[in-house]
Amino acid sequence: MAEPKENPLMEKIVSLCKRRGFIFQSSEIYGGINGFWDYGPLGAELKRNVKELWWHAMTRQRDDVAGLEATIIMSPQIWKASGHVDTFSDPMCDCLLTKKRFRADQIEPQSGIVYSWGGAVKLGKVEEKIHKANDNPPDNQIETIRANANRVFVRLQRDVEQNENQNSKTIAIEVLRLIRADKSAASEESFSVLVAPGKPPESARKIASQFYAQRGVEVTHLQLEQIEKVENSTRFNPENGALLTEPRPFNLMFKTYVGPVESEEGIAYLRPETAQAIFAQFKNVLETSRQRVPFGIAQVGKAFRNEVTPRNFTFRSREFEQMELEFFIKPDEVIEAIYGSVASAAETGRADLPVGQDAPQRVPTTPQPNWGWQAWHQYWVEERVRFYEGIGLSRETLGFHHQTPAELAHYARACTDILFKFPFSKKDEQGNVAGDELEGIAARSDFDLSQHQRFSGKPMGVFDEELRAAWGKLPEEKQKELWKRYYDNRKNYLTKTAKPDETPEQIQKQATADADGLTKGQYIPHVIEPSAGVDRLILALIANAYSEATKTDDKGKSETTVTIKFHPRVAPIKAGVMPLLKNKPELVKKAQAVRDLLRPWMNVFYDDGGSIGRRYARQDEAGTPFCVTIDFDTLGEKPELLDTVTIRYRDDGRQERLKISELLDFLLSKIR
Ligand code: ATP
Repeated sequence: MAEPKENPLMEKIVSLCKRRGFIFQSSEIYGGINGFWDYGPLGAELKRNVKELWWHAMTRQRDDVAGLEATIIMSPQIWKASGHVDTFSDPMCDCLLTKKRFRADQIEPQSGIVYSWGGAVKLGKVEEKIHKANDNPPDNQIETIRANANRVFVRLQRDVEQNENQNSKTIAIEVLRLIRADKSAASEESFSVLVAPGKPPESARKIASQFYAQRGVEVTHLQLEQIEKVENSTRFNPENGALLTEPRPFNLMFKTYVGPVESEEGIAYLRPETAQAIFAQFKNVLETSRQRVPFGIAQVGKAFRNEVTPRNFTFRSREFEQMELEFFIKPDEVIEAIYGSVASAAETGRADLPVGQDAPQRVPTTPQPNWGWQAWHQYWVEERVRFYEGIGLSRETLGFHHQTPAELAHYARACTDILFKFPFSKKDEQGNVAGDELEGIAARSDFDLSQHQRFSGKPMGVFDEELRAAWGKLPEEKQKELWKRYYDNRKNYLTKTAKPDETPEQIQKQATADADGLTKGQYIPHVIEPSAGVDRLILALIANAYSEATKTDDKGKSETTVTIKFHPRVAPIKAGVMPLLKNKPELVKKAQAVRDLLRPWMNVFYDDGGSIGRRYARQDEAGTPFCVTIDFDTLGEKPELLDTVTIRYRDDGRQERLKISELLDFLLSKIR
């Protein structure tokens, strides 16, 4: 469960997280549980701040997004409709020796020499039998065992025949005869080991011996069948070279039972994403929030995935939190019917720009009624990047991946992943780091609502009076063109998701009904989905903020200190409040009054233990942006400084004097 040794920065981060109470291994006292993490006092505050900021930006700051908090366990029908029951799986393979499990698509390609064996026989046992056989050859057993062991023996026989030494040949023939009589002395399983360049070939033999020993064949004669050079193979365990099983799909959903009986009917799943509840509650939210398309529904909450190989600390966990928005928009045909055309890239100011490039040209744009899916997609990518910038992740720390048509799900029109350059992110050949996914922003067409409509039998479409009115005024040619495009899209969707018993005629009929609905003002909204992981963001924030400085004193002794330079908005503690001395009641009283002044507004930490320098250092490591010190001047030792405090800035150690009466406003202006 420990981080790989070769990443010193990750090791430092993991150790700081434990030492300072950001993140602990779940169930640590019992040896931990792979893929599960607990957030300690500082981590819990950090996480709360991040979720609160997202919620604020997504819902309260906007008129067009409403919130939702749904259950983790939902009707299993939801996961059938969404496709998760059938297709939410990763290709997985196991090491044939250690049984360690790998995600097939994440195995590093390896090159080297592959040694392949066709089986093994247990020589020790055979020798023993030879002794016995001198007096009493067990001929009677031979026939019964022959069938099982044939393959192994044919090879051994061949080896024997090639051996010139007459004496050993005689013994070997005897061995063969006897070994046929005992199937526990042989394994016919084939096995291979990859040996990386520069490694001794004996290492392969050693691994193979272990493999056959596990099958009861301990002191072995290994039957080497083939030696082959391979390049970029993902068929071997990168840790020991042992062959892996063939990849097979592994459903990532955690299963459970609802009710007292563990029966088929009671099967339910822990949600693998928060998004589906939003689709399932789409109609309820639409009706109760008085929203109209375009509008969004936001949700933050737990998600569970039985990841094959949890790794990179919290980056790939089995229990994690997501912050998801489903932003429902009008299909492009509807926009065209109402506004004559869909806003061009030039009008939206950025839809043509590859995301993440030409950043200065990406002026914020106010959504326009004639935006189609591309403009909305670009808009949300940009909004999300701005959110990250606002909590301290600059554009330089981020990367972008535009999914290629081959990577996209069949229903998706585009998907842009926002990446963060984590310490474990890989470098390409030129040394550039693209990063790993923090958030995906997908244009998912009308797939999700359509699926829930089909599976639940409940209508998921909306009626748009503006569309109905506009349709009547369209020239017939335009009506025909839009009808046909909508029809084609629906037919395409219905064909891709058809049940085995659905005929092409039925599909055409349904697509015709859907396109006819358009002419009456009805359509199923499309959706843009920005979907972010809380835990990955927390890890990104910690990695981004981690900084070390080494100071050497006059005696040449050096000390390395850690400062976590969180943006004040996310910092778990906003201010450390400290009386200069703890044994001066007047100082303590004043400091406590300052703490109580700030407390209703922000998380503050009162600290009176140890030298002031030590206390500052402790707060630096916790990522606290400001320390407030109450000293004798605060009490009026210098009358002109009465009721002032020292504010110390974490990042540069700068200090300045501030009136207590101005303190709250000062801090609020920094943390909001
Ligand atoms: P990946 O390709 O890394 O498995 P994904 O594309 O399957 O991720 P989505 O289904 O798009 O992920 O989920 C949206 C977000 O949820 C991701 O961008 C990520 O931040 C977060 N997330 C997904 N899986 C995990 C996980 N196992 N642990 C932590 N966060 C996760």
